[in-house]
Amino acid sequence: MRTSEREDRAKGIRPMRRLRAQGSTRNFPVACRPFAAPATLGLVPVPDRLILFDIDGTLLSAGGAPRRAFRRALVEHFGTEGAAASDDFSGKTDPQIVYELMRAAGFADDHIERSIAGFFAYYLEELERELAVETRHRLYPGVVELLPALAADPRVALGLLTGNIEAGARLKLAHFGLWELFSLGAYGSDDRTRDRLGPVALARAEARFGRRFRGDEAVVVGDTPADVRCARVIGAVAVAVATGRPTRETLEATSPDVLLDSLADWPAFHDSLTGPAAAAGRRPWNRSAF
Ligand SMILES: [Mg+2]
Repeated sequence: MRTSEREDRAKGIRPMRRLRAQGSTRNFPVACRPFAAPATLGLVPVPDRLILFDIDGTLLSAGGAPRRAFRRALVEHFGTEGAAASDDFSGKTDPQIVYELMRAAGFADDHIERSIAGFFAYYLEELERELAVETRHRLYPGVVELLPALAADPRVALGLLTGNIEAGARLKLAHFGLWELFSLGAYGSDDRTRDRLGPVALARAEARFGRRFRGDEAVVVGDTPADVRCARVIGAVAVAVATGRPTRETLEATSPDVLLDSLADWPAFHDSLTGPAAAAGRRPWNRSAF
């Protein structure tokens, strides 16, 4: 810990507050972010496909940083971490994890509801600190090549569909320089029930691009059965990627439309986005195209 940080902590100033005091815009609400001119003004091409990525287990592993941050914040706000050391977080929204753990620890929902804003404020500060010292976090194969390519494709609206609260998603992706590649997102902070996040993403895409996206014009990419279920809720193409905790066999049992070992395998069907079918104006990425 740097001397200045130690001094700040002695005064009760936590790192994120210090950043804000220095004028940092990190973690400010999404509405404050400078977006490009909206497509509704005719200044940018209107994409005809919406690709929504999960984060943890799909794009990256944040190592042990999120769990350590979660455990400390639970102890700080509830006096116990419950079963946070061993609980399987994968596929769950952040608020869902808090509710499940603290209900099991004996807390009533109204207590959890009253505490959850303070919990997440503390969690975010801990997450930022833990990401800075984490040594095991990494991007999965193919991510560095794939995301910039999709973000640069004017036919693609690139978004997030993740159980992370928005500010947590931002911290994790910004750590790897990926946050700015995404035009929109649906987050655990929008709804703690993951199945409801697909419609949120479709609504955000319409607001962002001035065009209503049908479910079958969307792709949901994730590493858990919960991601496949999210795709099914909105009628999207489900792309499962076996880089997270669930095994390939577990994912296979959910019958995704596409099952990849990693996103490095995406180019095998990326051609259907940019190849002759796309050039001929036909919808190139329905299920049969995969
Ligand atoms: Mg995941």
